[in-house]
Amino acid sequence: MVQRGYFPTFDELLETDRFVLIYDNQIVVRGNEFVWEKSEIDAVLSIGAELFLLEEGPATTFIAVHIRENPAKLLRAENRSLRSLLFERGELALTLAGKASQILDWYTAHRYCGACGAPTTQHKSVRAVQCTVCSRQYFPRINPCAIMLVVRGDQLLLARSARFKSGFFSCLAGFIEVGETPEQTVVREVKEEVGIEVENIRYIKSQSWPFPSQLMLGFIADYKAGEIVVAPEEIEEAHWYDVYSLPKVPSPAISVAGELIQTFVNHVKQHQFGTNS
Ligand SMILES: [Zn+2]
Repeated sequence: MVQRGYFPTFDELLETDRFVLIYDNQIVVRGNEFVWEKSEIDAVLSIGAELFLLEEGPATTFIAVHIRENPAKLLRAENRSLRSLLFERGELALTLAGKASQILDWYTAHRYCGACGAPTTQHKSVRAVQCTVCSRQYFPRINPCAIMLVVRGDQLLLARSARFKSGFFSCLAGFIEVGETPEQTVVREVKEEVGIEVENIRYIKSQSWPFPSQLMLGFIADYKAGEIVVAPEEIEEAHWYDVYSLPKVPSPAISVAGELIQTFVNHVKQHQFGTNS
């Protein structure tokens, strides 16, 4: 295996490498395939592109390719949003295409130093860019968010954001603020968005969410006190739901919100039927 840096050059590419192509914030797809072989994209590489190491494996290394000219015609391909790919391809799209999209988003936003304004250059040994004048380093940044399902007995609280498709409900969520623990975020966000107090906050699971670069930390929290009063600028409506009459909610296959909901629904149903499977 060739030891390459985080910014491989064209000369370092191997036939065994696999590529995720990005043009204009979209993933280049042929049919429903978004991973390309080198021989398929030589024509695109010869036009000029930026390369980023994604995943290095024993047999195959995945590399993200940022293309500046629309490759659709050249490759007989189409350019698809990451979000649309996610709904079709699930986990793999999130891992590979999501990571490619995040790296490129970071790189594009750090071509210049935020401190002195000079151009940055690719770091030789870590995934970072470095200022050519003041040497400050910039690493890819992730934004941690807490996402929480509030439950009360056998009921769960679901809310509709104004951004959601009609009829669609989900958990509450918010960015973790400077100086906060995720548990403090859960308490604050629930209070701010629906006006109620929670307790017994337990961590369930996490998910990288590349829209554009969030880390979602998923919690379930118990209702403690208060009545639902929604913050109108954030939430259109919020209600307590019985697990047998849920509205449209996110799929557990693609989102931690869906998994939190399913975890609780399964828990309630198992409890009610007395099964332990
Ligand atoms: Zn600088």
